[in-house]
Amino acid sequence: MHQLILFGPPGVGKGTQAALISEKLGLSHISTGEILRKAVAEKTELGIKAKEIMDMGNLVPDEIMNGIVKEALASTAEGGFILDGFPRTVAQAKALSEIFRDLGHNNVKVINLTAGDSEVTARLLKRGRSDDNEETILNRLKVYYDSTAPVKEFYMNMGIVTDVNGVGEVEDISRSLLSCI
Ligand code: AMP
Repeated sequence: MHQLILFGPPGVGKGTQAALISEKLGLSHISTGEILRKAVAEKTELGIKAKEIMDMGNLVPDEIMNGIVKEALASTAEGGFILDGFPRTVAQAKALSEIFRDLGHNNVKVINLTAGDSEVTARLLKRGRSDDNEETILNRLKVYYDSTAPVKEFYMNMGIVTDVNGVGEVEDISRSLLSCI
């Protein structure tokens, strides 16, 4: 059973690759960004709270995100999964370790997709989601380096990280990803 965390900066292609790989391997694709965007569209209590935070490119509070992921993982306990966009802070990573322990997931791998700042910025500007304007992108990159990059160190210390080059053709990147999971 594949237990995967797809990690990397905003715009590196986590969503695209997670969708392709989950389809190919029959995994549950858990995208916290998608869960939040759905809540925003449905104007739920969570969505109303999250909208402003997302529009600024900031992070939704850890306790909220941890609860969302706990529920999502508990309901996919039977099969494998690929986490896309979570964890984004060391506190989330620690909470996730507890969730994994409770669910008996002990074979987790982290794939770190890589691309430079200018590459991901250009991609995000082209994508044109509502949080893909220049100001928000700059903040999302800052938040990534300040709060999210340390998560990679957390997992490197556990010896479970594999780097994969995220620059190139989508299919080639998928192949590299599949070859290391
Ligand atoms: P994404 O689709 O992964 O780029 O996420 C879009 C936005 O949703 C982010 O810029 C954050 O505002 C929010 N978000 C998604 N995942 C998380 C998370 N794990 N922790 C906090 N905020 C998140």
